[in-house]
Parts: sequence; C-alpha cells; structure tokens
Amino acid sequence: MTSDLVTHDLVIPDLVYPDLLYMNSQTAYLGLGSNLGDRASYLLQAVQGLLDHRLPVRALSPLYETDPVGYLDQPSFLNMVLAIDGNGWDPWRLLAVCQAIESSLGRRRSIPQGPRTIDLDLLFFGQQVIAESREGVDLVLPHPRLAVRPFVLIPLCDLAPAFLHPVLGKTVAQLLAAVSPQTPSPPTVRRYDPGAGQVRPGCQEPLFHQQN
Ligand code: ADP
Ligand code: MG
Repeated sequence: MTSDLVTHDLVIPDLVYPDLLYMNSQTAYLGLGSNLGDRASYLLQAVQGLLDHRLPVRALSPLYETDPVGYLDQPSFLNMVLAIDGNGWDPWRLLAVCQAIESSLGRRRSIPQGPRTIDLDLLFFGQQVIAESREGVDLVLPHPRLAVRPFVLIPLCDLAPAFLHPVLGKTVAQLLAAVSPQTPSPPTVRRYDPGAGQVRPGCQEPLFHQQN
C-alpha cells in the first residue's frame, strides 16, 4: 500500500538553472524511485540524505508517477531525477553514498525490479564511461538501462535535454523521442498530482488542480 503524506521540509541552498548544468563536465544525474509507503517522503528523505553527505544538489525534476515494469504485481512508482555538482567527487564515492542512503531508508533487495522504499541510480557522471567491479560492487556508467526507461528519460529531459550520452552519441531528448514510439506497450508515466482539487494542511488554496 502507498500513502503519500509529505512530512519533510527540505532546504536546498544552491539550486541553479538546470539548463546550465549539462555544460559542466562534472555534473552528475541521479534517478530516484520509490513505490512503498510514503513515496514522496522517501524521495525527499533521499535528497536530504545527499545534502547531509555534503553533496551539492543543484536541480530537481518534477515528480512522475509510473506504472511498474518487469515485476508488475506491485504499487506504482514515484520517480524523479536530480542534478548534482560532482566537483571533487568520483562515481564510486557517489554510489557508496547512494547505497548508504538506500540502506538507511530501509531498502531491502529481494525481487529484482521489485518493490522498494527507495532506489537511487547513477545515470550519468559527466561524460565518464565505466563498467567495473570493485570489492564486489558493480558500477556501470552511463546507467545501462536509462535509454529504455521513459520514467528516467522524461524527468531527465526536464533537466538536461541537450545532455549527450557519451556512448550512444545521442542527446537525452533524442533518446526520449526514440523510446516513445518504439516501445510496444510503454509504461504509463504521468506528472504526479498528489492533491488534485484538495486543500492541503497549511494552504489556503488547493496546491494542485486537475487538468482537464
Ligand atoms: P535496479 O536499480 O536496476 O533495480 P538495484 O538498485 O538493485 O537495481 O542495483 C543493483 C546493483 O546495480 C547495485 O548493487 C549496484 O552496484 C549496481 N549498479 C551498477 N551500475 C549502477 C549505477 N549506474 N547506478 C546504481 N547502481 C548500479
Ligand atoms: Mg538501483
């Protein structure tokens, strides 16, 4: 069961225009997903975890709700992508932080592509290309499945449409255009609209209105 009750306030000190970020060779992009419990809160706690590890989060995509792929008998996901200034970091340290945050938020690895409180994937780290295993931990960059996942490409395209995939030689926007018509039964990815028409606590007006 999912129930989204956002209970965490997040203060992000240095957000910048996402369009400028893909020009920085040290920008890293992370894909976040959650489909158990208070999904939005898990996403926020993951962002807070990155900030607590002194990772400079620079831009956040909107949230998208996504029907499950692969293992279908599970709740729908909330997905987002964020950009990090990776200056002074390397992909292995970033992966270790992501896995520590997954553990601290109760991530259990049971069914592949199965339900999870939180998933943090490294999508890109600048133009670095890596396929390596260190002390039993694998790292593949760019993320091997990003080009076939609309739930990654859509929020990534919000932040970095012109970012070039260093192996495929295509921009994120080109990858997204290629995946949409070719997927036989594309997973449904829609903007997350948590309180359509409802007044949320502390708000005078509805925050979100149903689009007709
Ligand atoms: P998925 O995200 O595909 O559902 P998991 O989150 O369970 O799978 O990750 C499985 C493994 O993938 C991790 O142990 C990690 O070492 C490895 N991995 C390889 N490349 C990456 C990457 N770019 N980002 C995150 N994990 C990765
Ligand atoms: Mg993962």
